[in-house]
Amino acid sequence: MLPRSSVALGKAATETVGCSFDISPAHKQLRDRVRQFTKDEIIPVTEEHDRTMEFPATIFRRAHREHLLNTSITSRHGDAPRDKLAQAIISEEIGYGCTGVGLAMFINELSMTPLLLAGDSYQQETFLRPMAEEPIMAAYCVTESSAGSDVAAIRTRAVRSGDEYVINGAKAWISNGGKAAWYFVLARTDMDPSAPAGRAFTAFAVPAKTQGIEPGKKEHNMGQRCSDTRMISFDDVRVPEAFRIGEEGEGFKIVMRTFDATRPLVSSMATGLLSRCLDETINFLRDRKQSDGVVDQITQFKLAEMAMNVEMSRLMCYKSAAMIDAGSSSAYHSSLAKTFAAEKANEAAAAAVEIFGHAGCTQGCPVEKLLRDAKIFQIYGGTTQIQQLIISRLLLR
Ligand SMILES: Cc1cc2nc3c(=O)[nH]c(=O)nc-3n(C[C@H](O)[C@H](O)[C@H](O)COP(=O)(O)OP(=O)(O)OC[C@H]3O[C@@H](n4cnc5c(N)ncnc54)[C@H](O)[C@@H]3O)c2cc1C
Repeated sequence: MLPRSSVALGKAATETVGCSFDISPAHKQLRDRVRQFTKDEIIPVTEEHDRTMEFPATIFRRAHREHLLNTSITSRHGDAPRDKLAQAIISEEIGYGCTGVGLAMFINELSMTPLLLAGDSYQQETFLRPMAEEPIMAAYCVTESSAGSDVAAIRTRAVRSGDEYVINGAKAWISNGGKAAWYFVLARTDMDPSAPAGRAFTAFAVPAKTQGIEPGKKEHNMGQRCSDTRMISFDDVRVPEAFRIGEEGEGFKIVMRTFDATRPLVSSMATGLLSRCLDETINFLRDRKQSDGVVDQITQFKLAEMAMNVEMSRLMCYKSAAMIDAGSSSAYHSSLAKTFAAEKANEAAAAAVEIFGHAGCTQGCPVEKLLRDAKIFQIYGGTTQIQQLIISRLLLR
């Protein structure tokens, strides 16, 4: 296990003076526990899961036992749902180990959020309660092959038929797609093309075993490979009205609120990857220094840059998560944190590969995987460009 840079820097580096940027003792304890979990359960098998793309079900069983999976709800042992800061800490530590594992775990929190924000008690009992009891997975079906950033362009439709809806369409790039027990689905219910997005779409929770649902073949992702990404087809899928989340026409707003509420977890996962790049590079350079005694100045600058970005990225994630816990609007800070973490994780991974030289370009070298994994952060959870548009719109409003 690599020495974690924050630990290796010693006590003075974490002492607070005047203004506290520190997390609570309970959050620290949680961080240490997840760090140990990552060291014991994830890091030893991450290369294998990256190579085989095998879904890490064993890790999820253990994570669920420790309430590190499905943390938005009360655990089977009665532990309260975790606050957003705690979730961000878990996400960072798991992301340090493997962001493929982290993505699959995050998707459960993402899928549960619409039910927590807008679901009724029957829906919560039907879909969320079993997730407290067992390490059940869920998936979040919004993107389509011709509608990613532009969510309002989705073509999947839900047409009312008595006290049911009939869903037809296909969702693309769905993480946990072949492993989910149920899907969150966004579909168009107002077929008038001029209907505003805020009224045209409706959200549903749909059991995966419903007739007419067909998961496609597993996508071969460049990174975060063990998260089971698939297309999901819906062919005359009948869903009872009781599984409609919120009112008809409210789906788009529910999806946007869900992204706002969960984006800190994507940023913190990217922060974990960034922090791993730093530690892998320190470790590599210490070995090199011991063998030939030289670390050139340009490399030292790159290392310092990584260290600054880890610190900044973590603070931005903590801030956006803490704002959600405090009940204030976090859209702006969540987008800042997501953009920064995604971009800096990519810079760090690219710099690490350069510093490692030929070794960094070799399959099996941790930084080679980190570079492939990092790229995905610029795409999902809202691309970097879309985040920049959100930030600018909020600034100019
Ligand atoms: C590994 C992985 C897992 C995923 N898991 C899920 C999942 O579980 N559920 C789900 O619903 N989706 C999932 N997605 C899909 C993801 O959310 C979309 O890929 C993302 O929203 C971008 O959409 P797109 O791929 O269609 O790209 P596009 O929207 O076509 O964007 C292509 C490029 O154009 C830029 N662009 C687009 N519009 C604008 C604009 N208006 N201004 C400036 N630039 C713009 C983008 O920033 C990007 O660089 C996943 C994707 C990946 C890669």
